[in-house]
Amino acid sequence: MIPLSEAQSYVLKQIEPLPRTVVPLKNALGLVLTESVVSTETIPPFTNTAVDGYALRSIDTVNTPVTLNVVETISAGDDKNINVGPNEAVRIMTGAVMPAGADAVIMVENTRLLKPADSLESALTEFNSTTISTSTSNQLDLERVVISRTVQPGDHIRHAGDDISAGQIVLQAGTPLQPGHLGVLASIGCYQVATYRRPRVGVMSTGDELVDEPIRLQRGQIRDSNRNSLLGLVDQAGFIGVDLGIARDNEDDIKSVLQYAINECDAVLSSGGVSMGDYDYVKTVLEQLGEMRWMQIAIKPAKPFAFGLVQGIPVFGLPGNPVSSMVSFELLAKPALRAMAGYDADALGPFTIRAVSQNTLSHPRDGKTHYIRVFTKHSEQGTLQVARIDGQGSHQLATMAQANGLAVVQDNLVINPGDVVDVIPLNVFMNGFT
Ligand code: AMP
Ligand code: MG
Repeated sequence: MIPLSEAQSYVLKQIEPLPRTVVPLKNALGLVLTESVVSTETIPPFTNTAVDGYALRSIDTVNTPVTLNVVETISAGDDKNINVGPNEAVRIMTGAVMPAGADAVIMVENTRLLKPADSLESALTEFNSTTISTSTSNQLDLERVVISRTVQPGDHIRHAGDDISAGQIVLQAGTPLQPGHLGVLASIGCYQVATYRRPRVGVMSTGDELVDEPIRLQRGQIRDSNRNSLLGLVDQAGFIGVDLGIARDNEDDIKSVLQYAINECDAVLSSGGVSMGDYDYVKTVLEQLGEMRWMQIAIKPAKPFAFGLVQGIPVFGLPGNPVSSMVSFELLAKPALRAMAGYDADALGPFTIRAVSQNTLSHPRDGKTHYIRVFTKHSEQGTLQVARIDGQGSHQLATMAQANGLAVVQDNLVINPGDVVDVIPLNVFMNGFT
C-alpha cells in the first residue's frame, strides 16, 4: 500500500491546465481567470447618494431644526444639471447623481416635508421648537423640508471611484470566479472573460451485473448507482459531466466506450474493475491504450485506484464499490480536475475543517487512514460537532448520502468524545479556504 499523498502527487504531476478560452460572463461561474482584470472604468462612475433623502449644504444645518426650500428632485438615472444654493435642498433618491453645491445628504427619516398648504406651526409642533429659520417669509409658497439634525460634510455620499478606480487590478489571474466576482466583472463592463476551459469529464460504469433501466432485477444484478453519484459530484464541483453509460465486462465494449470518451472528454472517470480480484478487462484495455499505474492506497474506503494518461487524457480508475468511488473522487479526482481547470496548487483540496467528535472514532490497526462518514452540525454553543453514522461498509451508499462529512482518522489515532477531529466537508464548495 502507498500513502494517499503519494497517489495524489503521482496524479497531479501528470495534470496540465486545459487550454485557455474566452467565455461570456454569464458562463464563467467557477472558471479560473487566466489573466488579471484591469478596470477601464471608475466605480461608482459618479458621486452619488447612499440614501433616499435631501442633498444640501451641511453649513445650512448648523442650527436645527431648519427649513430649506426644496428646489428639485433627482432620481437614480437622472442626468440633471442642478446647483444647490444657500437654504436649498434637493430631494434625492439612492444612487442618484449628487447635485453641485451640495456636500451632504440627510436621510429622509430625519426630515419632514412641508407642502405649500401645511402651516409652519405644524412643523414647529412636530419638532418641539420655536427656532425654525426660514429663508424668506413665514408663508409656505413652495415645498420646504424641515431638517431635524445637523449633518456633517460628506454624510451619505458615495464618491466616484471609492469602490474601483480606472486602471486598478480588480481580479488577479488564477482567481476561481465566485458569484461576487461575476458581479464585479459586470460592474466594470467586462462581459467576456479570459479563463481556462471548463473540464468535460466523462463518467463510465463497468460491469455485467449493472442495470440502469426500470426493470426487475434478476438474481445477481444490481443497479448502476456510481454513474449518478459521480456525475453529480462532477457537476457540483463546477465541471461538465458527460454520461458515457455502462461498459460491459468485455474488451470490445470497454475499448469502444473508452475510445469515445478519449475523443469527447478532457478527463475520464471509470468505476469498477480496478480491485485485485477483478477480471482483467478494464486493466487489459487501459494497459493497451495508455500508461496506467495500478495502486493500493492506504485508505479505507477506496483502497484500489488506477491512474494514467490515455492518448494524453487523464483516466481515473475509481473503485466499484459505491462509497469508495465517491471517496476516491473527493480525494484523488476532484483535486486533479481542479488543477485542469487552472486552480492554484494550494486551492486543490481536499480541505478539512476541525470539529468536536461526539463519539469515539478509531479502528483496529490496519495501516490505513479511515474516512468515516459523519454528520456535522452546529452545537448550541455554535461549535461544529460531528456524529458518527452507523453503517460504514463501502457498499452502504445510503449512509454516504446521509453524511455531510468524512472524519479523517489515522491508523494510530483514537478520537475520544469531546476531542477535535479533522473533517472533509461533503456537499460544500470549499474554494476560498486559501
Ligand atoms: P468491481 O471492482 O468491478 O468488482 O466492483 C466492486 C463492487 O462494486 C461490486 O460489488 C460491484 O457490483 C460494485 N459496483 C461496480 N460498479 C458499480 C456501479 N456502477 N454501481 C453500483 N455498484 C457497482
Ligand atoms: Mg466489475
